[in-house]
Amino acid sequence: MRIFSLSLVVAVCFHFQAFAQDNPTLQLTKVQDSIYMIQGRGGNIAFQAGSEGTLMVDSQFANATPQILNKILSVTTQPLRYLVNTHHHGDHTGGNDNLKGQGAIVIAHDNVRKLLYGEATKLMDKASEEAYNNAMKRLGNETNPENQKLAKQEAEIAAQNIEEEAMKSVKNLPAITFSRDMTFYHNGEKIMAFHVDNAHTQGDIILYFTKANVMHTGDAFINSGYPFIDTNNGGSVDGYIKGLSRIFYVANDDTKIIPGHGELADKDDVQYLHGMLEFLRDRVAYHVVAGKTDAEILQIKEMTAEYDAKGFGDGFISTEKILQVLIADARKKYPTAGKK
Ligand SMILES: [Zn+2]
Repeated sequence: MRIFSLSLVVAVCFHFQAFAQDNPTLQLTKVQDSIYMIQGRGGNIAFQAGSEGTLMVDSQFANATPQILNKILSVTTQPLRYLVNTHHHGDHTGGNDNLKGQGAIVIAHDNVRKLLYGEATKLMDKASEEAYNNAMKRLGNETNPENQKLAKQEAEIAAQNIEEEAMKSVKNLPAITFSRDMTFYHNGEKIMAFHVDNAHTQGDIILYFTKANVMHTGDAFINSGYPFIDTNNGGSVDGYIKGLSRIFYVANDDTKIIPGHGELADKDDVQYLHGMLEFLRDRVAYHVVAGKTDAEILQIKEMTAEYDAKGFGDGFISTEKILQVLIADARKKYPTAGKK
């Protein structure tokens, strides 16, 4: 929902301050060369400033947009050109619509668009399946390729009609999407965006600013405790671990890594999280295979002691929550474990 014109809010200080009281102060950090980071209540934002305009990564919550624009304005007055979403979660895409109003073209992974449609995606799938079956019933002879082609076309049209409706109501959608990799050439810098499969969600991308040697990982890596693996939206334990390894293969010792949440990090931090998740995944699987119940596994405190002592369980994901995700993952992999 657009609350008011943003340029007006930025210009009218009184309104802006009254509005800003609802939000904790945002923090602006110069990361390297022309790359900056903005931290606040939502996911970390990065932006690259330069004579060609501004390229921004993630947009936090909608109500933080005026403050975010103010921070960017303190560095550059060039127009906002691109906004890249690292994934679909609201604390990374909530400001998309506001920033579209500032002229930004929103770019994300194919699945971000689907996930932002939410319920509409399910309706699209259902409508297309129904249309396909109905067409087949009418046409008969299911093995005839011509009939299959016709039924597929009808299924596509049925889904498209629902998508057109969804596009009217879902405001944070990206305008450009891609499936694997994309490269930007912006302000004299090559910026690589690459997809990691089924990690935090099914729409994660990581951005690498090759000249400044800065990476923004979205929530495929966080520096604020146990990670959230959103298994309801295509995230997976093994995918998350693999995603972390891709981050530290691309990074070198000097790479500055902007995590989805938390403080600026480096390759060692990513490797530590990777080692931790691998260790916990395997230990939990061992106990699952040994026939222990969920409650028994949750009681094995020494398993997470090293990480708990560092405060890993004090954030958004508690020790119990991460263990529950790992237990569910192991039970899926070893469905007969513990059953006589
Ligand atoms: Zn997220």
